[in-house]
Parts: sequence; C-alpha cells; structure tokens
Amino acid sequence: MESWTVTGVQVDLWRYRWFGRVLVRRGYVTVALPMTGVVAQWLRPGDPVELELTAETDQPGFDDYRLTKLTAEGPVQLWPVYENRFEVVRRSPLDERPLYVYTIRLREATRESDYTAIVDLEQHHYAAEESILAKWVCPEDGAVRAANIRPTCPRCHQPMRFWDLTDATRSSRFLLAELVNGQPYEPRFIGYVRVDPPIPAMHRRLPDGTIQREVRRQVFPLDWFEPTYWPEAYFSSSSETSGSRSNRARLSPWSGRPAPAKQPSSGWSGVR
Ligand SMILES: [Zn+2]
Repeated sequence: MESWTVTGVQVDLWRYRWFGRVLVRRGYVTVALPMTGVVAQWLRPGDPVELELTAETDQPGFDDYRLTKLTAEGPVQLWPVYENRFEVVRRSPLDERPLYVYTIRLREATRESDYTAIVDLEQHHYAAEESILAKWVCPEDGAVRAANIRPTCPRCHQPMRFWDLTDATRSSRFLLAELVNGQPYEPRFIGYVRVDPPIPAMHRRLPDGTIQREVRRQVFPLDWFEPTYWPEAYFSSSSETSGSRSNRARLSPWSGRPAPAKQPSSGWSGVR
C-alpha cells in the first residue's frame, strides 16, 4: 500500500448510484479510479488514501484496485465494496441427506444493472400496485420520468438510464443476494437489503457556549436524510389501523408516498 492524496472527485447526479471517478495523486503521478458515486461522494480533495493496484494497468477498472481512506480513527476500506459468499444446504426431512446446495453471493450493488434488478424485485414481490419505484433520466436532454420498467425518453425516444429509487436517500446503500449456481429457470437475484447508515443528530457547542442543534442538517441537503427506511415507524403506523390494502402498503418502505403516520419529533431516523 502506498499513500496518495485525493485531488478530484467527479460524480454526475444522474448516475451517482453506479458511477463516479476519483483522481488520486502521488508525486507527479495521477491515477483516475472508477467506482460508484455512492462511494466517491464521501471523498474530498486533500483526503489521504492508500492505493493498491491489483492489475498492471495505467487505467484501472472497477476490479483492479483497493482504496483505503486514512482517517484519524484509523484506515477505512472504501473499495472494493462488501462481498461475501455462503452456501445454503437443503436437507431431506427424512434422513438429513443433502438434497441440493445453493451458493449465494452477497454483494453491494455497483452496476446500473444491479439497480434495475432491485426495481424488478420490488415490482414483482414487494411493492403495492400503485407504487412508482424508480426515476429514470435521459443523459442527452435531461428528461426525467418515474416508471417501474425502463422507459424511453419522451423527447428523443432513446431508452432512459436508471437514476435512482424514488424512496432512497443519497446515503442509502444496497446489498444484493445473487444465486451463483442457479438453474436456467431460477432467478439470478433473489433478494436485497437496503442499508441506511444511522446518521446521528449531532449538536455542537460554539466557542461562546451556545448549542447549535442538528448541525449536519445545516451542511447536507435534505435528500441525504429523507425519506429514510424506518421499519419501526411503518410497523407502528400500520398496527394502529386495520389491515386494509392501503394500510398494508405502508408496511413496505418502497410503497411510494404514504408516509408513516407518526413522524419523529426530530425527523431523524433510527435515533432515539
Ligand atoms: Zn432524451
């Protein structure tokens, strides 16, 4: 590992989920590192990082390097993102004999196709019928549409690109479960988990002794925080009412606009 310094971060809002670039420099050498924008957006020029190139190339791709941010609390690996494999053995109920084994890969969503797979999963398994799950954008003319399958641009009639899931925040991350050894009739993606980092409601004391409340809200835009995935609120709002169709839809964090009946007093999720 060698120490480098971040000199630039390039993230286009329309594809920040699945593409961004970070420029790092050491001496006279500058390298452009492609990664997801959801990771790149946390880096700032001047940040010290360690870079390990794992392939002999001047232009590394997604799979050709490891990047670690050096923080006051210690090193934090930024790239590659999390990935793990495990096996699920299905045994005979009669004699415990293994019947079949699934190999499942858990990995963070990185590619545009990973996010369209999430939209597919949502649409077919979880979402209420009236929910619109995804936003799509045309890179040519900036047109935006909300739809559950990839639409074509109303102006130039090209297929639009995935932009974002309608209920996700800028800090949301997505973990996909992928069937590695599936049969042709089995789905490739079998589930996903949305992870919203807990964002503490941080206050600070100024030199004159006054307390400035929820200082992060004054730094980051609102769409970094809301709407958050907050199962407890969804559950309590649904249990207060009968199990009608619309109330059940509230249980799904992806069910579009119906917000939890009980809003937290501070507006912060996961913080009590
Ligand atoms: Zn267009």
